[in-house]
Amino acid sequence: MLHWNNPKFFFNYKNNHPLGSRILLWILIFSLSFTLISTTIQLYYDYRKEVAQIESRFELIRSGYVDSLAKSLWDLDREQVRIQLEGVLNFPDIRFLRLESNIWSENIILGSVPQNSDFVDDSSRFELIHHTPLKGDQLLGTLFVNIDYDAVYGRLWGTGLITVFSNTLFIFLISIALMIIVQLKVTRYLEAMALYTRQIGRGEENGPLELKHKPRSARPDELDQVVDAINEMRSAILQDIIRREQDQEKLLYSRDQLQEIVKRRTESLQSAKEVAETADKAKSQFLATMSHEIRTPLNGVIGMAQLLLNSELDGKNREYIEGIYQSSTILLETLNNVLDYAKLVEGVHIPESMAFRIDELSKSVALLFTPLATEKNLSLSVNIDPAMHNMCYGSVGALRQILSNLLANALKFTQEGSVEISVSPVWLYEGKQRVCFQVEDTGIGIPDVLQTRIFERFTQADESITRRFGGTGLGLAICKKMVDSLGGKMGVKSEEGKGSRFWFELTLDTQEGISADRAGISMTNTSSTAIRAMGAIEPNTPLKGHAAGVSKKSRPLHVLLVEDVSINRQVAEAFLSLEGFEVFCVVDGKEALEITQDQKFDLILMDVHLPEMSGVEVCQHIRESHSVNTDTPIIALTASVQPKEVEQYKRAGMSSVVPKPLIQGELRDAIQQVLQPTAPPADKASRQTNHTDEDNTVLDESLIALHLKVLGITKVEKIANELKHNAVATESKIHDAMIIADLFEVSEQAHKLAGAAETMGAKALASTLKRMECAANDEKLVEVERFHRALNGEISQTLTLLMDFIERHRKASSELQDKNAKANLPE
Ligand code: ADP
Repeated sequence: MLHWNNPKFFFNYKNNHPLGSRILLWILIFSLSFTLISTTIQLYYDYRKEVAQIESRFELIRSGYVDSLAKSLWDLDREQVRIQLEGVLNFPDIRFLRLESNIWSENIILGSVPQNSDFVDDSSRFELIHHTPLKGDQLLGTLFVNIDYDAVYGRLWGTGLITVFSNTLFIFLISIALMIIVQLKVTRYLEAMALYTRQIGRGEENGPLELKHKPRSARPDELDQVVDAINEMRSAILQDIIRREQDQEKLLYSRDQLQEIVKRRTESLQSAKEVAETADKAKSQFLATMSHEIRTPLNGVIGMAQLLLNSELDGKNREYIEGIYQSSTILLETLNNVLDYAKLVEGVHIPESMAFRIDELSKSVALLFTPLATEKNLSLSVNIDPAMHNMCYGSVGALRQILSNLLANALKFTQEGSVEISVSPVWLYEGKQRVCFQVEDTGIGIPDVLQTRIFERFTQADESITRRFGGTGLGLAICKKMVDSLGGKMGVKSEEGKGSRFWFELTLDTQEGISADRAGISMTNTSSTAIRAMGAIEPNTPLKGHAAGVSKKSRPLHVLLVEDVSINRQVAEAFLSLEGFEVFCVVDGKEALEITQDQKFDLILMDVHLPEMSGVEVCQHIRESHSVNTDTPIIALTASVQPKEVEQYKRAGMSSVVPKPLIQGELRDAIQQVLQPTAPPADKASRQTNHTDEDNTVLDESLIALHLKVLGITKVEKIANELKHNAVATESKIHDAMIIADLFEVSEQAHKLAGAAETMGAKALASTLKRMECAANDEKLVEVERFHRALNGEISQTLTLLMDFIERHRKASSELQDKNAKANLPE
């Protein structure tokens, strides 16, 4: 924007200041119009004045000159006439005079008579009359007076033009002055306000509006009022922005909170799912174990019964033995089914894949059941679609078992009519064939409501059918599991009283696809390296970290200890140091992965429950990393030593497991075993945590005494103090988490402190915390609250007893020292 003292300011004024220029224009238009009108009026009055003056001159001539001129004419005094005429000619604006005398012949003309042809003589005439007493009035001549109107008009125009010009100049200067005043007093402030409001609109914050060069008057003028209004608007906008930002922050916070809660819920749901799955598998495993255990004596019973049946028996006894034999056979079948199902759940029961012919498989299965069909007077047929590629590659054993089960059921539940096996291709593509197997019967059928549940284990149509036909309700569940494992699907279509059609379809390699894919189809389950049981060496024989008896290396063995809970870390480190190992400690999985990348260790001790990345995951990464530690033995340290969990650690590549709380002898044994696998294993792997709910002693004094013996009182005292500090901090964290009902956090904190407490021998506290952790994982808020209420008291009780115990130990050992010292004193 140009300043007003810049010459270009005026040229660009219209563009830069449209309002100012418009005001200027209107001022000019109005002023000029007024000037013109006033000048015209002024001219009109001047004209009237001139005319009046001419009239008065004529009057003066008439009254002052006409009579004396008539007298001079009467007297024939030419000279006097001339003098008098010159006197009249001297009046202003008289162009010329002409005297036409009746006494003498020539006219007298004074002044200049225009010679131009268009001149019209409009002179005024005065009659020169002389009165004599004898003759009365006598006309002696006529005087013509010609007025110079051009001069009068010229004068009037001149005056008018000067007036217009001077007025216009005056108005122009006034307008410029006005424009400057408007610019200085109004326009520039309006422009400043516009600029300011535009800046606010763009979100540029410049503080409240203050007009430069505009001192605020005591009584605010209009501009001050506009400034106040803009500032109020600005405050309102700012408040609005702040409120919105706060709202947005609140929203973001709530969103983050929600995300966090969802994440935790998902995690806890995931872990709950895993727990449920584990429990489910454990149940199947239990059934399988039991079945397996029962099968052995049952085989004995069947064998004995068979032997008895082959011997001489009287009718009644034979009947009894036959009863025993039949019941045992049925029981054996049931047990086999349970075992099969459990194996399927474990995913280890799919027979190996091999090449086979579908038509032959179907016919051979049908052939097996022909005697039964004949016995029941049922027609049994096999129908193979001619479009089938019979030569296939797949788990023929599984197919045979599924088909046999379906066919056995079909024959079992059909009293009259027929049973048919039919096989047809669904699609054929690039060496693979989708095949649909169907077993159709005209038997009793299955009610609609049951058709959806019929593939669940232990499901049968109803009591009467079970009573009539027997069975366990496991056959279809086994078939379904097998089909699922083979990547297929299975279903049933049935109408009560009319019959059923069981079908399953799966993809098999055809002859063309066999050679290419055979390697990938193998269904054998290769179990990973078996977990090594903890070794059995003399419990108190130290390993001597220079690997005496373990390794022939001369340097101390390097052990990496991955443990996030400080107390556990200190205890484990102390144990390892006592064994002579050089111990490197890290606190989480990330650090463990970093250090194992390029620093070779002889052994890694890995806590399983680590923050962010579990010990199991870390172990997997190390095994897959191809780093210097890919083959380093890794021992899991954990309180979770259920067989399923141990199996999981094993699958992840752990070499052994040592249960928590650590016991030096056990740790030593495990290390011995993984470093020197030839040492005979001792069956100690299944040590569970020793405490039980019934065992209500607060401290595991034997463990603490062991710690005191192995680590020394100073170290134990240090660890106990740390436990105290941890317990107080954890209690407050749990308290905070309880306020917002964050059970995930409660579970995490409880788990950590439980580990530390257990290591220290505070077994009642550890037990409470573990139960609290479980309750939190199960989202049992009321239960967690109950534990939480008790926690504070329990912590202080535990810590008091722990400190007392240590103190007692200190006193006892100093008394012992005194006693020994006295005993050694000479008499
Ligand atoms: P089980 O035969 O040992 O009882 P299954 O799992 O093989 O166990 O079968 C479960 C139930 O499904 C049977 O008890 C029966 O009620 C029903 N079922 C199976 N196959 C048929 C069939 N072909 N016709 C009618 N009902 C059947």
